[in-house]
Amino acid sequence: QARSLSGNSYRIFDARHLDAGRSLADLEADLRRALRRDELELHYQPRLALESGAIIGVEALVRWRHPRRGLLQPQDFIPLAEESGLIIPLGYWVIDRALRDLQWLNGQGHLALHLAVNLSFQQFQDGQLLSTLQRLFRDRGLQPGCFEFELTETAVMRRSSHVLSTMEALQELGVRFSLDDFGTGFSSFQHLATLPISLLKLDKGFVQRMTEHAADRRLVRAMINLAHDLELPVVAEGVENAEQLALLRQFGADQLQGYWICAPQPLTELSAFLRRHALSRSLHAQR
Ligand code: C2E
Ligand code: MG
Ligand code: MG
Ligand code: MG
Repeated sequence: QARSLSGNSYRIFDARHLDAGRSLADLEADLRRALRRDELELHYQPRLALESGAIIGVEALVRWRHPRRGLLQPQDFIPLAEESGLIIPLGYWVIDRALRDLQWLNGQGHLALHLAVNLSFQQFQDGQLLSTLQRLFRDRGLQPGCFEFELTETAVMRRSSHVLSTMEALQELGVRFSLDDFGTGFSSFQHLATLPISLLKLDKGFVQRMTEHAADRRLVRAMINLAHDLELPVVAEGVENAEQLALLRQFGADQLQGYWICAPQPLTELSAFLRRHALSRSLHAQR
């Protein structure tokens, strides 16, 4: 029987997502096995710098190729992973895989790419985070400066002193932090200003509503101005059409992610996209 989960994990209970008679515990056992059997995969979504038109980084997004249920999206299993503690091994798997993939991309000639990985609050509670990252960067010969953790407002607003000290230690290493889904939580700006955040990611909900609603348009402009006053660049998520892009350019957004630029892709498709994009930019520059 379903037990009570917190936050936005209601999708777990959606009957369409559970076979008859199967419980949450079964799904948890499935996920445990998935980690051992390598059923998880990462897709990557490029981040475009508006001014230069260059792809300057990618965000890793986890998927689960479930043997019976097909390709599951994060909302179908991340809440369960967080609730069960499996987010810790899952999170390390994601970081390790993403760093291997970045190393492979570098080998393909995609240099100076920035890698962003989503981090759940629970992962901060694990004492191994800092030392594991240090080891992985060393083993892969990668600079921590190319690495970014995306945190949500709800995670950082918990004001745990442990979170702050871990963030500071990671920052010392060279890791950067961005604030994901900005505008949807309840950020205390005073608290925000004390955190080592170097980028705000404007939630896709605002971006999608702003072409229809003047209020959202004003909010987007205000949030971009606020970020810039705090000397933080802004990434707009969920850019799906040219109209949104034009408004974001007008409002001074710094970077864009969204289906209009590129949907999340498996690694080899990402590499092909990066090559095409770089080629078309260089042909454009020659004209
Ligand atoms: P997020 O980090 O805010 O990621 C953005 C989500 O928006 C992704 O959904 C992405 O596929 C989707 N998206 C990108 N462009 C567009 C667009 O133009 N239109 C629309 N409608 N959607 C777009 P996804 O991959 O389903 O991930 C959902 C959330 O799951 C992520 O939100 C993130 O919070 C979480 N997540 C994903 N991977 C991980 C992970 O490895 N660890 C943890 N802890 N959380 C993860
Ligand atoms: Mg999705
Ligand atoms: Mg994210
Ligand atoms: Mg987001």
